[in-house]
Amino acid sequence: MCEGSPDDSALPATKRRRFGGRSSSSQSAAPQAFWFWDGDIVLEVEHHKFKVHGTRLQCSEIFLDMLAMPQPQDADVVDGCPLVQLADSAQDWQVALRWIYDTGSFAVMHHPVPFPLLPSALRIGTKYEIAALREWAVNHLCARWPSDLERMDTASLPCAAEAIALARECDVPEILPAAFYALSLQRFGYNADGGRSHVVLSQADLRRLIIGRERLSDLAMQLLLDPLSAAPGMPPFESCDQCREPLQRYWRGKVASDPQSPFEPWLLRELYLMFTAPDVLFESVLCEGCLVWHKDAAWTRFDSLRTSMLRLFCL
Ligand SMILES: [Zn+2]
Repeated sequence: MCEGSPDDSALPATKRRRFGGRSSSSQSAAPQAFWFWDGDIVLEVEHHKFKVHGTRLQCSEIFLDMLAMPQPQDADVVDGCPLVQLADSAQDWQVALRWIYDTGSFAVMHHPVPFPLLPSALRIGTKYEIAALREWAVNHLCARWPSDLERMDTASLPCAAEAIALARECDVPEILPAAFYALSLQRFGYNADGGRSHVVLSQADLRRLIIGRERLSDLAMQLLLDPLSAAPGMPPFESCDQCREPLQRYWRGKVASDPQSPFEPWLLRELYLMFTAPDVLFESVLCEGCLVWHKDAAWTRFDSLRTSMLRLFCL
């Protein structure tokens, strides 16, 4: 990572983005990350400068076009190289340059990759039209916040609010249902990710989050009050006397909040596990008719919740 920035006291405060011929503003910069002695272009981002190779930047459609243009006569030069000033964050470019110079190390990263890489990669990949960089970031965002909500795991919980803001900024709407659901599971009072949502989300998205939490809370309350109520799309069910109490206790246990937990019950995952990894001991006490209803109810309630996620959060 970059340690400090080169001395730029002799550089003009120019806003030019184009680069060109000789200038009296040349200044040798201190060695730093991405300061190659044989680099032929200097990027200035915030207070950082990167002396890199124009050929490497040609992975970007924007730089490809820019580098093909004739250089203005009065453009600025740093360390003998044309200077390009960029209105981005240095952190974002650090990540992008890591990818540009060592794409292989990114390709072998496994889910979940460190979240801070993703906003940087996505912003630079999108703005400068580096398709493969954007694709790398989108793929890892979709691994954390998958469209198939049953594939969500605990990596979906941290940074969910940041992911929503990023999805809005860089147009990755496919992660929104999982990110909103993951955020809705977190209790604001625990000062974890959920508790910081109001500083990250837009007002409209904060409203969506609150509405979604209310609707999920209503759903949990319905199941608590009447666990054997008709599941969506299923005919009314009347359990036998023997199975009624264990069925009610089991279903209530899946939706009951634990006041000590920083999370609300992860109902979608609980429902999914009911038919993918059934509780054999519990099911052994049920009669055949009640067992069939229990399995059908788990599936239909899961499917209903999964397919209603867009509506729940007004997406
Ligand atoms: Zn029964």
